[in-house]
Amino acid sequence: MCHKSDYFSNYSKILREVRDIAKQRGAEQDIKLMAVTKYACAEQIAQLMQGGQVDIIGESRLKESLQKWSSPLLKDYHPQKFFIGRIQTNKAEKIINNFDCICSLDCLHIAECLEQKAAKYNKEICCLIQVKLTDRETQSGILPQQAGGLIESVKRTCPHIKLKGIMAIAPNTKDEEVLRSCFKKAKDVFDKYFGRGDYLSLGMSGDYKIAVEQGSNLPRIGSAVFERI
Ligand SMILES: *Cc1c(COP(=O)(O)O)cnc(C)c1O
Repeated sequence: MCHKSDYFSNYSKILREVRDIAKQRGAEQDIKLMAVTKYACAEQIAQLMQGGQVDIIGESRLKESLQKWSSPLLKDYHPQKFFIGRIQTNKAEKIINNFDCICSLDCLHIAECLEQKAAKYNKEICCLIQVKLTDRETQSGILPQQAGGLIESVKRTCPHIKLKGIMAIAPNTKDEEVLRSCFKKAKDVFDKYFGRGDYLSLGMSGDYKIAVEQGSNLPRIGSAVFERI
């Protein structure tokens, strides 16, 4: 049995680390840390939230996340909820109504679907464009060289979608040079279309230090908070 604030001390330690790295770029104030709670049960999430301030959480499975977050254990906690999973069009409405930001927008078809539902509820929905950094077929995201076209189309045709930045997942490698060049591709897209106040969400438990060094301002950490590594 672990002490109740162990998860929060993991979270705080990583937050300190990424702030220190961001400070070297003069960007300490702008960095946030997303606690990815997709592996955790309501009780574990409550332990994290009891420890202290966690502003943003990430979830990838809609149904499980709605169940967990409706638990009485979590009723007093209201972090911003970011959806980081694959968007299925038949679940768009529920995603819009339960999340503050959707981080995995990668095609116009999905954007139009979100637009239609957001218009129905007269709601503005924040989205990040997911950029693909590997050749793997199964990896979601739009290729960096096509991201600009998608961003322009969404801006033109989806008035209820507010684009707030870029999310990307790096290839599963420990090769730091490969990671750096991948993250740089996402940063280049970000710099072209976004700026201060927007999110460049790069980095997970295995690569967040390099991601933040390369300009990420919203690393997404699951395993390293909930000790699944
Ligand atoms: C699960 C997940 C994370 C967190 O991954 P960890 O390696 O456990 O930190 C981050 N981003 C996305 C999109 C995820 O699905």
